[in-house]
Amino acid sequence: MPESIQGSDPHTHADAIVEPVGDPITERRIAEDLLAVSEVRYRRLFEAARDGILILSKNTLRITDVNPFMLELLGYPRAYFIGKELWEIGIFRDKAASQSAMDKLLENGFIRFEDLPLKDHNGKLHPVEIVANVYQENDTPVIQCNIRDIGERVGFERERAALQVVEHSSRMEAQRASAAKDRFLATLSHELRTPLTPVLATLSTWEVSADLPEAMRRDAQMLRRNIELEARLIDDLLDVTRIMKGKLSLNLELTDLNDILTSVAGIVRSDIQAKHIHFTLQLNAQSHFVNGDPARLHQVVWNLLKNAAKFTPEKGSITLVTANEADGSVTLTITDSGTGIPPDLIERIFEPFEQGDGPFIQHFGGLGLGLAIAKALVNAHGGSIDASSEGTNKGATFVVQLPTVEAPEKTQIPAPFPPPQVAGRSLSILLVEDHVDSATVMGRLLTKIGHQVQIAHTVTKALSLAQQHSFDLLLSDIGLPDGNGIDLLGKLRALGPIPAIALTGYGMDEDIAQCRAAGFRAHLTKPVNFRKLQEVLVEFAESLPEVNLA
Ligand code: ADP
Repeated sequence: MPESIQGSDPHTHADAIVEPVGDPITERRIAEDLLAVSEVRYRRLFEAARDGILILSKNTLRITDVNPFMLELLGYPRAYFIGKELWEIGIFRDKAASQSAMDKLLENGFIRFEDLPLKDHNGKLHPVEIVANVYQENDTPVIQCNIRDIGERVGFERERAALQVVEHSSRMEAQRASAAKDRFLATLSHELRTPLTPVLATLSTWEVSADLPEAMRRDAQMLRRNIELEARLIDDLLDVTRIMKGKLSLNLELTDLNDILTSVAGIVRSDIQAKHIHFTLQLNAQSHFVNGDPARLHQVVWNLLKNAAKFTPEKGSITLVTANEADGSVTLTITDSGTGIPPDLIERIFEPFEQGDGPFIQHFGGLGLGLAIAKALVNAHGGSIDASSEGTNKGATFVVQLPTVEAPEKTQIPAPFPPPQVAGRSLSILLVEDHVDSATVMGRLLTKIGHQVQIAHTVTKALSLAQQHSFDLLLSDIGLPDGNGIDLLGKLRALGPIPAIALTGYGMDEDIAQCRAAGFRAHLTKPVNFRKLQEVLVEFAESLPEVNLA
């Protein structure tokens, strides 16, 4: 090794030496110096490497050199390695395995083994990765084996695998816990709802009983309203459980959003009027048909309007406006002049169990589920829902955007609702519905479109009405306080033939099947889409023989 280079930086030297000189002797000197530099470089790498390096003769397959790290790794002196074949230091199981690896190496010029166990002088196994290749050293072919201790990496991988097992089992545990919680919520909701049914039934019976003193009748109404509210909260809990479990299913059909909005506006109107709130409904959207679940869309709009009415003080204002966007979607914007929503709350408002604070919220109660459910439902329809507010006491705006679909042929020129004249024939209808407000609104609308309607909230009342009048049609709820619509139809048929249409709650598939089996001609999902009801009635009236008409 030339004196001049030893101990200095070979790289700087190499660069300094390369100068264009024409003299052949000088050029040879330069070439020799460069070679020496590269040898130093290589030696330094060999000595300092943190991989074990073995040099083997290609002819004998025996070790001719070993670097310090290899000695350190296995704890043997240099003499232990020199002259041995790889299998003799434990890299391969036996001579045959070693030979086959070497054959492969000589054939391909390269071999690699990922995870070989290599024993040190204490008998401890080190997982190693071995890469070997063949190259020329001064015209002599040699084999270089690089041996990397992958103990740390393997340890890390094992640790990661162990962590994954732990993580997997805690995930399974969390899933089990969540399934148990879901089951609990479902059972709890059912258990909480069940006792309300007879209470409601009793109250409804009291409300219709003629000999109840007026003050008690008012009390009974108050009790019923509160119990219905309780039932609604329980339904919300069930809905949230369904949403969290991803079990929310929609019964999609061609739905006229205008019908939904008109219907909900009718239902919340009494709350709005009671507070002397100025309410404006502007159905501006030309394209207002969606592929939607009418009951669920009804629920969304009802929730938003109910909140607007709840959080708007006396003599405030609420507007509900629809419009079409450039992409053809429809937006419904509900703006109120109420308490508004502070900026920190508005970010969380669609999360379950999130409510504002302050006496106002405590006064009105609620579970903070309505908007979470509304958002899940709107999203399931491929739409979006957003809230904005300028801040406390500056009112709030909720915007629901839904994709639209083409209007059906026959409604391409939208008919005002309810239609101005009787569509089809005038029918004498027995409407049986225990939800008094819904019954009243439905009765009013049916009357408006030219039918004669008698309302019963119970089976008992329906039977007594049927004994006094003859009806063309029974329009009946299935779950009634003192029985069910199926039994009612059976009893009415004992008095004489009567066609029937059932009104069912959402998701009650088994009820629907039973209704069909019991002889109901059709069923409508509650809350009822009035346009659809009207269509069913027109169809039905047209199918009646002349003699049956009143
Ligand atoms: P809740 O049934 O408890 O009202 P929601 O999910 O419907 O639950 O609403 C969550 C919260 O959002 C409410 O507690 C209230 O703080 C706020 N909020 C919703 N709508 C309005 C609104 N129109 N004006 C002001 N605050 C509102």
